[in-house]
Amino acid sequence: MGLYLFLLFVIFTALIGTIIFISMKNKKEDSYTNLETEEWNCPECGFHVQAGNRCIYCDTEKPS
Ligand SMILES: [Zn+2]
Repeated sequence: MGLYLFLLFVIFTALIGTIIFISMKNKKEDSYTNLETEEWNCPECGFHVQAGNRCIYCDTEKPS
């Protein structure tokens, strides 16, 4: 019975660890996506692009 409880504890700990690891990984990817969707002004037509790296009006790439 003691070994059974120990195994349950190990599996539970591994599960919690995996969940924390995945949520931390997702947070990192979220902040990366936020950088990608940063707002910028198109130098060609002056349109304020709110998402993406390309102007939807004149198809100009986001200046770096
Ligand atoms: Zn434009």
